Amino acid sequence: MERRKAGGIQGQENLRQGNSDRAGAKQQGITMDIGGFQRVSLIDYPGKVASVVFTIGCNFRCWFCQNADLVFKNYDKLARYTQNEIMQKIEEAKSVIDGVAITGGEPTVQKDLPEFAKGVKDLGLLVKLDTNGTNPNMLESMISSGLADYVAMDVKAPFEKYYEAIGIGEQALLENVKKSIAILLNSNIDYEFRTTALPNFTADDFVEIAKQVKGAKLYSLQQFDNKNILDSSKSGMQPLKIEELNGIKKKIEEAGIVKKCVIKNI
Ligand code: SF4
Repeated sequence: MERRKAGGIQGQENLRQGNSDRAGAKQQGITMDIGGFQRVSLIDYPGKVASVVFTIGCNFRCWFCQNADLVFKNYDKLARYTQNEIMQKIEEAKSVIDGVAITGGEPTVQKDLPEFAKGVKDLGLLVKLDTNGTNPNMLESMISSGLADYVAMDVKAPFEKYYEAIGIGEQALLENVKKSIAILLNSNIDYEFRTTALPNFTADDFVEIAKQVKGAKLYSLQQFDNKNILDSSKSGMQPLKIEELNGIKKKIEEAGIVKKCVIKNI
């Protein structure tokens, strides 16, 4: 999801590709579509060392997305993994990691995500989930079953500008995002809400987004990166200046909207 946009999925391992892997996964009754794996990351799970699993496919089309290959399922450009291969790799990394960050794409479009997370938990590892919030039922179920220890949810825009940011005009998706926000705000797990600091937003837009997650334990503003974005016609847009980001952070903090506001990727 958002953070990963900065670096794409470079640096991940590549395994064999092809239909035989998919067939192997299906034989086990697992259909997780996984297109990347990073053995060790120090930045994908706050305060933890984690492996990172990248799932394929997303129900949004954010113009600033930097993971177009995952979103558009460009299988020829992605690594392919069976469930067994990934679990083996995670097990091999177990001695040096605290947990696994599952990102994408949008992980919750994978119907077997809870089973996959359970496999990770069964190894004695933590699970961090990155999500755009469009599957509140799965989110709630994973939290209540103890299958997610940390959730980072993107809140892309003020609700009235959401479709503009995500490139999809479906009311049901937006309603699901709102439900997921409420689920996290009422949960006892560690979480954060995240927004990419799009340069076409005003300071008041960011304050409005913060209000949408009012009372949140943590709200992160992530610096926008114009490299390799989904809508290349906007690659000339320049990121906000650090002083501007700090000004927005200050405004949100002074209004006491969220408990903590941080700036990332600068
Ligand atoms: S939610 Fe948006 S930014 Fe995240 S993977 Fe999907 S299209 Fe890309």
